[in-house]
Amino acid sequence: MTTHSFEDTEDFARRADEADALRSFRDAFHFPPGTDGKPLVYLAGNSLGLQPKNAARYVQEELEDWARFGVEGHHHGRHPWLHYHELVTEQAARLVGAKPQEVVVMNTLTVNLHLMMVSFYRPTKTRFKILVEGGAFPSDQYAVASQARFHGYDPREAILELKPRPGEETLRTEDILATLDQHGHEVALVMLGSVNYLTGQAFDIPAITKTAHAKGCFVGFDLAHGAGNLKLALHDDGPDFAVWCSYKYLNGGPGALAGVFVHERHARSKDIPRFEGWWGHDKATRFQMGPTFDPLPGAEGWQLSNPPILQLAALRASFELFDQAGMEALRAKSEKLTGYLEFLLEKLPPGFVRIITPRDVKQRGAQLSLRFKGEAQGMLKRLSDAGIICDFRKPDIIRAAPAPLYCSFTDVYRFVRTLEAHARD
Ligand SMILES: *Cc1c(COP(=O)(O)O)cnc(C)c1O
Repeated sequence: MTTHSFEDTEDFARRADEADALRSFRDAFHFPPGTDGKPLVYLAGNSLGLQPKNAARYVQEELEDWARFGVEGHHHGRHPWLHYHELVTEQAARLVGAKPQEVVVMNTLTVNLHLMMVSFYRPTKTRFKILVEGGAFPSDQYAVASQARFHGYDPREAILELKPRPGEETLRTEDILATLDQHGHEVALVMLGSVNYLTGQAFDIPAITKTAHAKGCFVGFDLAHGAGNLKLALHDDGPDFAVWCSYKYLNGGPGALAGVFVHERHARSKDIPRFEGWWGHDKATRFQMGPTFDPLPGAEGWQLSNPPILQLAALRASFELFDQAGMEALRAKSEKLTGYLEFLLEKLPPGFVRIITPRDVKQRGAQLSLRFKGEAQGMLKRLSDAGIICDFRKPDIIRAAPAPLYCSFTDVYRFVRTLEAHARD
């Protein structure tokens, strides 16, 4: 299906859904009902993914094992808690295109971002800057600024922000690379989103990593909007680290456990500075309770605490679905679904809405960010009254993200028809 073969009809959307090999995954999720009892059109999976139906069962199993076994559940539960986090390691690795040893599921996103910066932001007098995208998610901005201050630098000098050209809304890869060419020698760490939360722009991870490494910088990516959305290849692309949360496209539930990738090249660097905790200690000797930290090789060596099993249980339900669908197929569907959204939006009355997300599919994921001529917040309310959930970011942006695991072409069609009704008001 190319963009040329899309049609602006409900019948077309229905046929596209029938032809969709992934359509049955929709039934694996709880859809919140709208006021009319019909399932909502849920385009906010970039904010909080829906609940997989198996999540409750998996959490319940661990509650039962806790009741039945108490502390013995660490060894004798159906899925012994001692190794429970390993149940999601291979799946997490497949999701981000990494080797299992390069990933671990732990903590929450901003915590992981700080832990990674402890290891990979190591400023010197001549090289102390952090290159970030202007308008990064606030938590990321606070994290990099506070790290700079922690090392004794003024964030106004230490943080270098990439800005779009005047009159443009997203960054050009050539400008990012040119900035690195010019300033790379002063940059200790390049820390970018993989998809910007606001504009929906996906950055070119391999090109940025290659150029930054050639300049001697460490490189990290925040995959909050990339994991479960883009087809990622972290091992081959080679950034030093990446972090992500699991409650957006990954459907792990509110405050779900987050993930970390540390490239294999750092797997055995015992001298890398890091904050240490007992769960990062060598498994073979952890329970000897010795005084000296001996890190596990790979990403697991950055673990601090024994992990929250109930949260991991919920995440397993989602990761199983990703494994069954496969990122390749999901991404292929996602390009069509978001392409269909773009196609329909372009047919609305001129000037009513503007798509600020890049038109190049390689530079975006599922989300399109829309600027409205009228009042976007009022529009959001009208959409929600019509059973359609997206989200609003000040001052005038509505973000709509058809998540390919559970959204349909008919959902996209309904969304745009509702917008159209208001465009003509
Ligand atoms: C969602 C998001 C966060 C949220 O951080 P938490 O630590 O999970 O609360 C941070 N950064 C980015 C880029 C995000 O998209």
